[in-house]
Amino acid sequence: MANVSLREVYKYYENNETPAVADFNLEIKDKEFVVFVGPSGCGKSTTLRMVAGLEEISYGQILIDEKVVNDVEPKDRDIAMVFQNYALYPHMTVYDNMAFGLKMMKVSDVKRDKDGVPVKDANGREIPIMRHYTKAEIKEKVEEAARILSITEYLQRKPKAMSGGQRQRVAIGRAIVRNPKVFLMDEPLSNLDAKLRNQMRAEILMLRKRINTTFIYVTHDQTEAMTLGDRIVIMRDGFIQQVGTPGQVFDHPENLFVAGFIGTPQMNFFNAKLVKVDGSYCVNLYGKLFPVKEGVNAYLEEMKFEDSDIVLGVRPEHITLLKADSTEVSAAVLEAKVTVTEMMGSELYVHAVVGDGKEMVLRTPTAGLSKADRVSIADGGTIRFTLEPELMHLFDKAKETNLIPINVDME
Ligand code: ADP
Repeated sequence: MANVSLREVYKYYENNETPAVADFNLEIKDKEFVVFVGPSGCGKSTTLRMVAGLEEISYGQILIDEKVVNDVEPKDRDIAMVFQNYALYPHMTVYDNMAFGLKMMKVSDVKRDKDGVPVKDANGREIPIMRHYTKAEIKEKVEEAARILSITEYLQRKPKAMSGGQRQRVAIGRAIVRNPKVFLMDEPLSNLDAKLRNQMRAEILMLRKRINTTFIYVTHDQTEAMTLGDRIVIMRDGFIQQVGTPGQVFDHPENLFVAGFIGTPQMNFFNAKLVKVDGSYCVNLYGKLFPVKEGVNAYLEEMKFEDSDIVLGVRPEHITLLKADSTEVSAAVLEAKVTVTEMMGSELYVHAVVGDGKEMVLRTPTAGLSKADRVSIADGGTIRFTLEPELMHLFDKAKETNLIPINVDME
């Protein structure tokens, strides 16, 4: 059981004017899986290392289970950390690697006689002591962790005789045996090849079900963040950009940075105008009008929003390609010239140029494309598309923030 709080946490490295982490505020609930994600150098590892106690906190407070741990030694924080480079001892067997930390640890107990019965003092009280784990206790813990991670058959092997994925499992096992309150993982999968990474990602999801504890996981990979996290913390230059569930950050990015960071291929951004026509708000993109959704319209109405320049964000999979034989003649249809296509199997990524030469990309399922569709989608062809009111993101051009509050946008 552990919740973790970070309150106005800052980190300044020596001789550095700008903080590596700034004004970091986050309440992590007991048993929550939180992922810190962002580009390299944004402060993810530094934040994690401050939670672990491996890095001093310049300002602010970190609490584990309501207790301020700023000055608590790492070994006394009841946390376990798994790193990218497994940091296993090469000369020890897997069993010994996993048992090593336990041999060092002490547990609280009471003094007992040779039959294991607690001894009492003159006043009839049990006598508290700190003792090492017994060999039998260590064996039980290591075997249990090995079972959870399916590495029982490798317990007597040395790490060098194991694959990258197996070594990473040993590193995780070494953390599990300690039964930590908080599990910290710093890019644990980035040394693995793509296939193994996908497999280990699924294993971490399963592991999480088996050892129900609080997880903080650092990655630069947005797919890992989206698939693993209950909540995702997106960081940039030391500052949190947005905290939310995968659904929230995908469906309602708070700013252009988050919008561009989450989702592949990246969201398309168009310079556009938000205008009121016949009493309703529309996005004017290259002279065509795309109405906004009802809730957003009501909100803009209430705010008495005036016509202004915006950035319109539309994800590649949310651009609606009109079929070649479509007779759609609605005002809200745009044309684009295809520059190149990428065949992904079940999907096609279509790169095209629209309006004044703006590059865009759209994703379309390959199933159901007619011969005529394939001709128009081929390089140099012309496609027609429209935009759905539900799938447009409106950003303030100057501030780069979402124009619409999350509760209105996600209604
Ligand atoms: P991330 O994990 O997101 O890649 P880090 O937390 O490692 O980012 O780094 C954040 C910033 O702090 C970077 O600008 C990095 O160069 C700087 N930094 C990290 N560690 C140190 C250090 N030990 N001394 C000085 N600067 C550091």
